[in-house]
Amino acid sequence: MAGEKNGEGKEAKEERKELIKLESGEAEQPFRWSAGTYGSRFLSELRDNCRFVGVRCPCCGRVYVPPRRVCGPCFRELTELVPVSDEGEVITFTVVSFGFVDPSTGRQKPVPYGYAVIKLDGADTYILHYLDETDPGKIKVGARVKAVFAEERSGSMLDVKHFALLRA
Ligand SMILES: [Zn+2]
Repeated sequence: MAGEKNGEGKEAKEERKELIKLESGEAEQPFRWSAGTYGSRFLSELRDNCRFVGVRCPCCGRVYVPPRRVCGPCFRELTELVPVSDEGEVITFTVVSFGFVDPSTGRQKPVPYGYAVIKLDGADTYILHYLDETDPGKIKVGARVKAVFAEERSGSMLDVKHFALLRA
């Protein structure tokens, strides 16, 4: 063995193996990032008031949710924050049956669950979120939905537990 030829004993080799095991284990990697001025306002409105806010373009009138600083098509700075509804419509959807790790939580959400592109009333852009329905036969494009907020909120999109289908 190469280690023994270099004078390295069996004990030292075992110690080195252990070190490699430790390095390949799980490691906590804490980090922080800024949501920005408008992103922070959007998330704090969810957390503190169970309310969605967007921003309206003074040029074309589009309302962006979540709010952003610039309207791409008009290349104008956006400053007018506006409330939008917690109800909206399903633009498209899927029912997730194959679990994967949610990057926002680091945990796998139990399957199945509904996932939809939603246009809130008063908004011109879409958000992605969970649905409370898992039967694809009961979800329709154009279905009306309403946000259900979590009891405990921390300033994240998961302050909305899911969107509930509104039955006609
Ligand atoms: Zn615009």
